Amino acid sequence: MAPNPFLVSVTALKRGPGGTVQSERRCGVLAGLAVTSAHVPDGIEVCVDVDLESVHGGIMAHGTVTTTWEGECRRCLGPAAGTVHAEVRELFEPGSDADETYPLMGEQLDLAPLARDAVLLELPQAPLCAEACQGLCPTCGANLNEGGCSCRAQATDPRWAALDALRHET
Ligand SMILES: [Zn+2]
Ligand SMILES: [Zn+2]
Repeated sequence: MAPNPFLVSVTALKRGPGGTVQSERRCGVLAGLAVTSAHVPDGIEVCVDVDLESVHGGIMAHGTVTTTWEGECRRCLGPAAGTVHAEVRELFEPGSDADETYPLMGEQLDLAPLARDAVLLELPQAPLCAEACQGLCPTCGANLNEGGCSCRAQATDPRWAALDALRHET
């Protein structure tokens, strides 16, 4: 197995005086980052930029997790894409139950679970290709971003309304 790029040694940090900060930037591919309608594409790296600080009881990691996502626009079903930029502030501590904090393993900590959790939280549940996406016509299914369809004109045309009324009478 390839070495885990998110594994950080904090030996120097733990030996340094209080208030010492160790800045780390670690990037790597994490498999299986997906929610129903969006995912991090295969081979795309997730980057963690954090300041690690020795605090009472453990190591505090403070910074950002970034990557890019792809998905399906919920309005027009076309491709949608964007960036993930998550702010993180998490504690690594010995004997962590991995629920509210992350485990500090001797003089090492693994930023991968933190990166994974942060990305999964930030992936959009209802992605849009663009904020102004017009979506699909509910009647004919035409993509309204690519120009109108004739349904709207018909709906507001009184002659069609009259025809509809006639049809309903018979
Ligand atoms: Zn769209
Ligand atoms: Zn239509």
